[in-house]
Amino acid sequence: MPKLSVEQLDLQGKRVFLRADLNVPLAGRGVADDTRLRAVLPTLQHCLKAGASVILASHLGRPKGKPDPQHSLAPVANRLEELLGQPVPLAPDCVGEAVENLARALKPGECLLLENLRFHPGEEANDPAFAEALARLADCYVNDAFAASHRAHASLVALTQYLKPAAAGLLMRRELEALGQILDHPDRPLVAILGGAKVSDKLGLIHRFLGKVDCLLIGGAMAFTFLKALGHDPGRSLVEPELVDQARQVLAQARARGIQVGLPVDTVVASGPESAEAVRTVNVRQIPPGLMGVDIGQVTLARFKEALRPARTVIWNGPMGVFENPAFATGTIELARAVAGSSAFTVVGGGDTVAAVHQAGVAEKLGYLSTAGGAFLEFLEGRELPGVDALSEA
Ligand code: AMP
Repeated sequence: MPKLSVEQLDLQGKRVFLRADLNVPLAGRGVADDTRLRAVLPTLQHCLKAGASVILASHLGRPKGKPDPQHSLAPVANRLEELLGQPVPLAPDCVGEAVENLARALKPGECLLLENLRFHPGEEANDPAFAEALARLADCYVNDAFAASHRAHASLVALTQYLKPAAAGLLMRRELEALGQILDHPDRPLVAILGGAKVSDKLGLIHRFLGKVDCLLIGGAMAFTFLKALGHDPGRSLVEPELVDQARQVLAQARARGIQVGLPVDTVVASGPESAEAVRTVNVRQIPPGLMGVDIGQVTLARFKEALRPARTVIWNGPMGVFENPAFATGTIELARAVAGSSAFTVVGGGDTVAAVHQAGVAEKLGYLSTAGGAFLEFLEGRELPGVDALSEA
């Protein structure tokens, strides 16, 4: 069933509890990357223009259930104020009488940012009493925090028992639509690209993709477990030995279903992920015993680009190498350019992959860039996200 959307609510004169994901990286007293703040602006502005007052709430970092000035949302309030062009006062807490008075004093078109939800242990414990205290602040509920909705926390789940209706914000809706389209009715061929550190993190996703995609390209460290399954010696590359058998089964299943699987054929090798430079590029059958694969090679890159050419839908999660080290970022950056240059509907998600896309300067050219990491993976795996599940039906 489709979920109720914020656009379907009559907001005039209402106080809206807007759960957002304002969990941004900080730099000193400022916000290092405001992508997530910009992403919630459309919903915030929609509510304010519709005559609501908005009580905005988020977690930030992991303050372990008690107040901690290092995890205050003060820098977020300052940056949001600049982006929104109107005052965004920060409440001293997220529950309690003083905060209730501040919320009650808001006029239509005004907003208030609550202090970090995780300053209270009730948030992560999905505690009904804490949720009830949050509910006292508002008349209705909007969740625009897709990126946090894989967690059953009080502001995402228990709160919807006390504050109804519970609607999806505009960002949440876009996220559900973009990812839903990929799962339910993708334009084919559908090419999935997976990379990153571990097969174990993405096994659920790989199995789901085996039932959905036409082509699966695998890079990053996780490719070495698959290469080992094919009998290649990965040298000192990262391998998960306990998953080699599973990797072999995945390859056999893909073959049986006619799914094309692309693995690296050449790799950049180095003595370690932090080395200043690569030793050389080698065929994956000839990785020297003392070296590790840190990026895909040019032949692999050309093959991956070739596999992308016919795609009508592309989904990508996980870097092709140790892209944080500029010496080993080429494969990931070049792939980002190729994905962005494709005429397919392209969806990219996960913190590292999104960072790589920004680094390549091609973010604007993608179909959909998901701000979510864990929630993005869990949704694609086909798991119910508690925070989405809890929303009212349309
Ligand atoms: P994940 O969070 O699973 O998407 O993994 C991202 C991490 O994988 C990044 O920090 C990359 O540096 C790392 N990574 C990707 N390829 C390799 C590789 N070949 N060797 C070591 N680490 C890698």
